[in-house]
Amino acid sequence: MTAITLVARTGRAFRLGVGDSITIVNLYGQQVVDTWAISPVDPSTVLSMAHTRMATGKLAVQEGDVLVDSDREPMVLLESDTSEGRHDTLIPACDPARYRQLGVVGHHDSCAANFRDALQELAVPLPSQVPQPLNLFMNVPVAGDGTLVIEPPMSRPGDRVALRALQPLVLVLSACPQDLAPTNGAHHAPRDVELLLRPSFDQVGGLPSS
Ligand SMILES: [Zn+2]
Repeated sequence: MTAITLVARTGRAFRLGVGDSITIVNLYGQQVVDTWAISPVDPSTVLSMAHTRMATGKLAVQEGDVLVDSDREPMVLLESDTSEGRHDTLIPACDPARYRQLGVVGHHDSCAANFRDALQELAVPLPSQVPQPLNLFMNVPVAGDGTLVIEPPMSRPGDRVALRALQPLVLVLSACPQDLAPTNGAHHAPRDVELLLRPSFDQVGGLPSS
């Protein structure tokens, strides 16, 4: 097993073969990690939150769930989860437009830019749009009247989620740089995350190039 740091505010992409897994460790407890999977050969095939909600019959994802792609095929197994299972499937990745809405003038890091940069680093074709991510650890309770509120994550330091590839894919992870809302905690301070790459991962040459 190999451990690497996903630095706060940044993204990384990894090539996974069938059976490879990555465990995302929430070192400080309240860091949201935007998560995508994409076909390495066809960027129109992506991990789909809409199709996954249909397949599981749930708004959220939980330990043991099989997450499906945009062709409804099994793509990622949520193998284990030590958190309380609060993960969002509804909120889009933060992007420059969102930060402009929040009053930012000039550059602000974003998960959408991290997604594109990470794929380009691996020379993986980009989809036409940034797909809806699985927002690990993001706490968005849905009220009875359908109202959504972004609240600080309920996860604790050391909580971790393990994802296993069920088809060859590129997994993209972004340690969300949102520091103007309580997305990553009331302290508004994005943090590093630790990634544990499982042994079989090394054998397929899936380690990042940098
Ligand atoms: Zn973000």
